[in-house]
Amino acid sequence: MAITKKEPTELAKHVFEYAPAPESIDHVKIQPRYGLFIGGRMVEGHSKKRFPTINPATEGKLAEVVEGDEVDVDRAVKAADKAFTAWARLGPSRRARYLFRISRLIQERSRELAVVETMDGGKPIKESRDVDIPLSAAHFFYYAGWADKLEWAFPNRKPRPIGVAGQVIPWNFPLLMLAWKIAPALAAGNTVVLKPAETTPLSAMVFAEICMQADLPPGVVNIVTGAGKTGSLVVSHPNVRKVAFTGSTEVGKLIARAIAGTGKRLTLELGGKAANIVFEDAPLDQAVEGIVNGIYFNQGHVCCAGSRLLVQESIAEPLLEKLKRRLSTLRLGDPLDKNTDIGAINSKAQLEKIQGLVESGIEEGAELYQPECVLPARGFWFPPSLFTNVSQSYRIAREEIFGPVLSVLTFRTPNEAVEKANNTPYGLSAGVWTDKGSRILWMAERMRAGVVWANTFNRFDPTSPFGGYKESGFGREGGVHGLLPYLELN
Ligand code: NDP
Repeated sequence: MAITKKEPTELAKHVFEYAPAPESIDHVKIQPRYGLFIGGRMVEGHSKKRFPTINPATEGKLAEVVEGDEVDVDRAVKAADKAFTAWARLGPSRRARYLFRISRLIQERSRELAVVETMDGGKPIKESRDVDIPLSAAHFFYYAGWADKLEWAFPNRKPRPIGVAGQVIPWNFPLLMLAWKIAPALAAGNTVVLKPAETTPLSAMVFAEICMQADLPPGVVNIVTGAGKTGSLVVSHPNVRKVAFTGSTEVGKLIARAIAGTGKRLTLELGGKAANIVFEDAPLDQAVEGIVNGIYFNQGHVCCAGSRLLVQESIAEPLLEKLKRRLSTLRLGDPLDKNTDIGAINSKAQLEKIQGLVESGIEEGAELYQPECVLPARGFWFPPSLFTNVSQSYRIAREEIFGPVLSVLTFRTPNEAVEKANNTPYGLSAGVWTDKGSRILWMAERMRAGVVWANTFNRFDPTSPFGGYKESGFGREGGVHGLLPYLELN
């Protein structure tokens, strides 16, 4: 069994003291109970079953939502079906106007949305405020621009919408994943039924209010809350013509099997185990920031997280020293505090999964490093962690941990880096750190990953397509490519 090293107290001396800077929550009104958003209004669920959604940082209950059943899903799909013809025929510039309006309303309500996202999901407010919400607004803004230019996007192809899209999203970027799904679907003239994740339904409920504020025609967007069962009802409903899913590879495979042979269109954005590769000529301080952003951003609850650090052997020692020093300065705690870097783990189940995989790493012989870090007494927390002495066969090097846990491996030659980076069933993203442009291109050509970042990591932009290879799924979201799954092209 390897030794768990605590941070040398020497490093702790470099950490600044910060006064608490909590974001105000006075302007946010979370209702005690939510219904379902069907046919343009909030309605009571047919299902009398409800479940609480909690704040993972405090374990306090925030609200109750409906566990949508078969009748609820059927009502939502029928509402979407009914709205489809008129929405598809609406002048494209008028469709665009609704999307611009939604984008604008997300901006107007951004502080409220950021707080809701942070309270329901546990992510630091500076991330929901500076990343999730602005990117969600940008996504609607971007696709609003395409709504009346589809003929130009696909010249001589006569683009037509498909029908009702059934969309199931995860808990790591609740509003952003909603935007990735709904914006291109609506721009292309489809209507949608969306199921948010069980642990993070609240920003979707605020989004329902935004649809009403925007006077979006009834039934164009429908939101049914619930657990996995509700998701499976959405994707298998016979009137759903297109399925879009983001989540685990396991559930992605279930969905692919469930709809095989139905003629439904499918895009899957699944897990990842990205390699973040640092060459000896890379600017080390910059690389350290990129590594930290790659794996500790959003507590590592990121499908494209740089969870495997591949570092050239000649610089492994200085790089690790810098990285450990940097880890000791990360502030873990109240996600609503504007200085917090590491928030709460999204759920108890996810915390247990992370703990289990970390245990397996120790048992298999890797060496765990965690900086000194006081975990709050209530809520779900895991300190930023890194493993050295990792073999490629260890579970921590192969499986998606989806937590703030980095596995460090080394390489000697570029070819070895390529071999190791591609030695995974996943293929969502990769990062390359080097001073040489030619090496970036050489590496990018050889990475079997949908996105390759060079001298940066975890950069997202609505204009840029995102998606995976192999067990990371198929289909692209973002950019012109993101319209394709929602269109029939002659
Ligand atoms: P899931 O894949 O189970 O959840 C994603 C979404 O699918 C949720 O809305 C979920 O509902 C729903 N769902 C679950 N089962 C079904 C089904 N049979 N048919 C249709 N929809 C379904 O991910 P988990 O939340 O369970 O997370 C497990 C692991 O998945 C994580 O540890 C992580 O490794 C990975 N993951 C990857 C993500 C990515 O972006 N690539 C995102 C989230 C997780 P509900 O929330 O109610 O269960």
